[in-house]
Amino acid sequence: MDPIRAIRGMSDILPQDSYLWQHLEQVTHELLDSYGYREIRLPIVEQTQLFSRAIGEVTDIVEKEMYSFADRNGDGLTLRPEGTAGCVRAFNQHGMAGSQQKLWYAGPMFRHERPQLGRQRQFHQVGVEVFGTPTADVEAELIVLSARLWRLLGLDSAVTLELNSLGSNTDRARYRQALVSYLSEHRDQLDEDSQRRLDSNPLRILDSKSPDTQALLAAAPSLPDFLDQESAAHFAELTARLDAAGVNYRLNPRLVRGLDYYNRTVFEWVTDALGAQGTVCAGGRYDGLVEQLGGKPTPAAGFAMGLERLVLLMQELKAAPEPTRQADVYLVAVGEDAAVAGFALGESLRDRLPGLRLQVHSGGGSFKSQMKKADRSGALLALVLGDNELAERSVGFKPLRGGEQRSVSQDALADELKDFFAHEEH
Ligand code: ATP
Ligand code: MG
Repeated sequence: MDPIRAIRGMSDILPQDSYLWQHLEQVTHELLDSYGYREIRLPIVEQTQLFSRAIGEVTDIVEKEMYSFADRNGDGLTLRPEGTAGCVRAFNQHGMAGSQQKLWYAGPMFRHERPQLGRQRQFHQVGVEVFGTPTADVEAELIVLSARLWRLLGLDSAVTLELNSLGSNTDRARYRQALVSYLSEHRDQLDEDSQRRLDSNPLRILDSKSPDTQALLAAAPSLPDFLDQESAAHFAELTARLDAAGVNYRLNPRLVRGLDYYNRTVFEWVTDALGAQGTVCAGGRYDGLVEQLGGKPTPAAGFAMGLERLVLLMQELKAAPEPTRQADVYLVAVGEDAAVAGFALGESLRDRLPGLRLQVHSGGGSFKSQMKKADRSGALLALVLGDNELAERSVGFKPLRGGEQRSVSQDALADELKDFFAHEEH
């Protein structure tokens, strides 16, 4: 029988990589905590209409990337393709409007796209959302917070910030009209996708990868020229804060986001170290979404970052921490009596030294084969138990990375271990 394989685009994260993920997650969670953001945990499956209403019917995600299915009751459900919609749904459902909320969430997202480096069908995001505050200091904080994260992870040399404003809904509508009338005159020069979008979602044409379309866009009307006074002032308040905090950015008038719900600020952190999958973090303001999903009108802003791409970047830049070894101490016991005693000794050491990273050998075997495993575990120290040690109530204390083996009484073992690890710089 052929062995069953994982679904294309849905990867296992193996032990030799999971420590990197844990590092990334821990640094991120601690940073968010230090800025006063609190975690919200959301379901992975939601009603399909949540996403069609939030993200927009005419978007890549809703048109062709969602994993949607009917459950046993015939309800239309979808594996979440992103986290903001569910977060807003929860915000409304639990009556969280009325006070400022600073939230973050983490977990898998699902999109049926063509898998490639940094693009998967199951991928992971950490998302950060702020509800209830209309002012640009919110976006500024989201940006400085992410900039600090890149520094903590050692990625700051490889990412740059792109910034734009989409203006108000009215600004966007006026711009949309101007763009459509310009592009309609050159319809035949547009790539096929862009021709289709000209009627359905013309702003997305700014995102086109086609060189011909991009050339055409060079002379197209520019979004920033359409901002009303308030949106322009909002954008100035944001850049003033970024300048004051020393955060560099590039103004990119063609930056629009793939999701429909943004207004005013949009930003992306991009890298050229990962080929085509250059965006590691993207976000902006979305003042209309809470109301659009049935809640009280509530301003909001947020971003989401792609963890696969950040892990790849950590590996690419060699910014990854050293892999953790499997154990610090490996307990070897030869013979059935010693194995029973070793089993109990392991437990009593764990009682006395909480946090000790101890692996007790399992599976029996000769001294030699057990020592081989002790070595392979990366442990710094082997504890050896055989008939002689049992008779003496002692244990062989054998440093594995240089140093002589000696005999230590079992009563003194906990103190000897403390001593050993206090002196070694590990
Ligand atoms: P892209 O243009 O790369 O498709 P997007 O605009 O669709 O990205 P968002 O919906 O803004 O992406 O998601 C935020 C972040 O999540 C992205 O910047 C990226 O880092 C990550 N991301 C999105 N889709 C994927 C995917 N299929 N695989 C891995 N990471 C992804
Ligand atoms: Mg996409």
